[in-house]
Amino acid sequence: MKIEVSILASGSSGNVVYISGGNTKILIDAGLSGREIERRLAKIGVYADELDAILMTHEHLDHIKGVGVLSRRYDLPVYANEPTWQGAEDKLGFIEDKNCCFFKEDFMIGDLGISPFPIPHDANAPVGFVISCGRKRIGQATDMGHVSKEVEERLKGLDFLIIESNHDLEMLMNGTYPWHLKNRIHGEQGHLSNDDTADLLPRIIGDNFPRILLAHLSQDNNLPALAYITVKNSLEDHGFNIGKDLLLDIAHRDRPTELFKVG
Ligand SMILES: [Zn+2]
Ligand SMILES: [Zn+2]
Repeated sequence: MKIEVSILASGSSGNVVYISGGNTKILIDAGLSGREIERRLAKIGVYADELDAILMTHEHLDHIKGVGVLSRRYDLPVYANEPTWQGAEDKLGFIEDKNCCFFKEDFMIGDLGISPFPIPHDANAPVGFVISCGRKRIGQATDMGHVSKEVEERLKGLDFLIIESNHDLEMLMNGTYPWHLKNRIHGEQGHLSNDDTADLLPRIIGDNFPRILLAHLSQDNNLPALAYITVKNSLEDHGFNIGKDLLLDIAHRDRPTELFKVG
């Protein structure tokens, strides 16, 4: 089955991931305006009316801004757990096809298998996802203060992984953010640093030549080149060769990535 992925936007100004597998096309989060999501989908050759569903990871506005508009405009079912619905309700407006999953078990949307798992972040009940199609598995895990044991288990050996690399700790600590915000971002329920991700990746990468996308980079406390080099150095220290053992890319805030083929 053909599987394609593009990160349409990534970062605190908006997060949208497009995944298609077999005959099913979904978004994970829709954190830009409806119009901007339509525009970015068009850039990768997809029309919003081809979509089958939207999944919400958590209720922060950078993940749900366009959910209500797209759902109403294209009759799209939206999936989230109950605490996330509660947190999101007043920001979404009316949603006709509201799927309240408890996210304790895996479920299917068309040809895609959906496996949610809890992530540590300061929202009501935030989740990451592993999406499977045939034998291929795609992981999405951003907005995490630290890597829990469960998260690490879930992310092992995937074929495609969207993983947070939010900030460089030194840039964050020396930057202009007020202390409470620095502590929030750096804290156990905040966001993963470049070093956190650099530590994690060598432990979870399999021998299946995965593609890793660094995501949710901070505009103020990180640089794409710094995130890339921090992760690259760690992988190389652990004997991984980029290009031979895995591919490493960065998601952008202002434009879609290419439409990656998985498998
Ligand atoms: Zn976010
Ligand atoms: Zn968040």
